[in-house]
Amino acid sequence: RIVYLNGDYLPEEEAKISIFDRSFLMADGVYEVTSVLDGKLIDFAGHAKRLERSLAELDMQKPDAFDDLLEIHRELVRRNDINEGMIYLQVSRGSAGDRDFVYPDASVKPTLVLFTQNKPGLADNPKAREGFKIISIEDQRWGRRDIKTTQLLYPSMGKMMAKAAGCDDAWLVEDGHVTEGTSNNAYIVKGDTIITRHLSNDILHGITRAAVLRFAREAQMKVEERAFTIKEAQQADEAFVTSASTFVMPVVEIDGAAIGSGAPGPVAGRLRDIYLEESRKAAV
Ligand code: PLP
Repeated sequence: RIVYLNGDYLPEEEAKISIFDRSFLMADGVYEVTSVLDGKLIDFAGHAKRLERSLAELDMQKPDAFDDLLEIHRELVRRNDINEGMIYLQVSRGSAGDRDFVYPDASVKPTLVLFTQNKPGLADNPKAREGFKIISIEDQRWGRRDIKTTQLLYPSMGKMMAKAAGCDDAWLVEDGHVTEGTSNNAYIVKGDTIITRHLSNDILHGITRAAVLRFAREAQMKVEERAFTIKEAQQADEAFVTSASTFVMPVVEIDGAAIGSGAPGPVAGRLRDIYLEESRKAAV
């Protein structure tokens, strides 16, 4: 695999960063994951914009190559011959050559890393025909989940708890209400209304979420942006999650209770089809 590190395209074995890099020592880094379909980038502009915001919220410098990110993504797609898959991008505050809680001064340049993940069959995912089984767990993450940082230990723990329970993922619950999934936004459908938590610092502002809600409204579906409980979700007609890597993924079970008919629902299916069709048309 050819990866990108601070201006160079390198075989992955040759891409090395310092042990003092702050993403390693402090999780002082932000990231984005952009999917690739038909060799093109899905929702690239949204991911670039959210990256810019994450950097600004943490007073992190933009990498010098910020304005070339589209070209770098495309070059990695070309060099690794990706038709379907993902591009992972991370910016860290870099390395000041020692460990220190205080941010280094502006002479320390951020570290910029990108790599590809080849995933043939990403769009035609058989899991979308089965749906996800979900467990609920307490949301123990920090209070700035709107910033896409590399502090992913709790989401990893959540995925492990889901796996141990024979499930696909976990929904996080705070003050009795679902915030989001470990790595996706969470939705329920009641009658003809799609319900998903409102935007705040409590959740990541999903790029797929923004697109799906726009497509839903354009298709005259009703959307309510508000918090909901696990009980309400278990009594809903449908549930689903969205993310750059799963697009729209039906949820068929929460904490052992079947949702609706227990099979992927028509609203999730329709939104998945619309999202894939429209975002493919707009891919760059
Ligand atoms: N929420 C969390 C916590 C995530 O980690 C992610 C994606 O990784 C999402 C939501 C979905 O965001 P997006 O649609 O931009 O991939």
